[in-house]
Amino acid sequence: MRIQHTRGGDQTPSPRLCAEGVCSRARIGMLLKIENLEVSYGAIKALHGVTLEIDRGEIVTLIGSNGAGKTTLLRTISGLLRPTQGTIRFNGAGSQLEDLPPHEIVRLGISHSPEGRQVFANLTTRENLLLGAYQQKSKSELQKDMKHVFEQFPVLAERREQKAGTLSGGEQQMLAIGRALMSRPKLLLLDEPSLGLAPLIVRKIFQIIRDINAAGTTVFLVEQNAKQALALAHRAYVLQTGRVIKSDLAKNLLEDPDVKEAYLGG
Ligand code: ATP
Repeated sequence: MRIQHTRGGDQTPSPRLCAEGVCSRARIGMLLKIENLEVSYGAIKALHGVTLEIDRGEIVTLIGSNGAGKTTLLRTISGLLRPTQGTIRFNGAGSQLEDLPPHEIVRLGISHSPEGRQVFANLTTRENLLLGAYQQKSKSELQKDMKHVFEQFPVLAERREQKAGTLSGGEQQMLAIGRALMSRPKLLLLDEPSLGLAPLIVRKIFQIIRDINAAGTTVFLVEQNAKQALALAHRAYVLQTGRVIKSDLAKNLLEDPDVKEAYLGG
């Protein structure tokens, strides 16, 4: 699959990527900066002072065991959960996300493909995609975005009038990602896109993520499939019971003995 044109606007690779030799253009650009984030469910604290950064152009992955707080972090960035403490800055100093409602956060350029896909089973592929573009008022722009998603995911074009509930797991995952792309995100949040999929389909989904990033969208990928996520990402954070315990270039974490033992099967 080829993705031809850049979406999401001002995506120039980060200095960190340049330091890795991945880019040829110099630039500066933090896209997301989270500091000291605390999130609770009633009396249960799920995130304990999480701090992390994502630069423009990166794929950053967050790995961790069940219940580490990965989904909680993504839902907080999207405005679905409110932190009790800490800050989330997006796109320079301009936007403080922690006080904004989800639709404003989408409008600023963050889109979330949730765990378990959450496509609307009784709506068609096309109708599901339209829901991702609910803020787009221009019919012609909307059609352009739909065409773009169909170019990225030809199988969705073939299944455009098919009810989403009848799609395969892999197709539903593509639909969930396609729906998130309909709002032209600068930052795409992906929660467990490989969950429950066969290895061949997982490889395809990961290639799609690589292509989306190459076309200019910054990606924050939450995965339990740590090996493949680290092989795909530029940088990574390890979350354990709500705390960041490690962060490094993904290729370094692939060789880290503690990470190997805890998350990569030794
Ligand atoms: P998984 O990979 O299993 O989805 P995760 O790393 O995404 O795990 P979270 O789902 O963010 O972890 O959960 C973090 C902690 O918060 C867990 O202890 C979980 O039990 C708790 N938690 C999550 N959602 C709720 C909720 N709605 N009410 C109460 N506690 C919750």
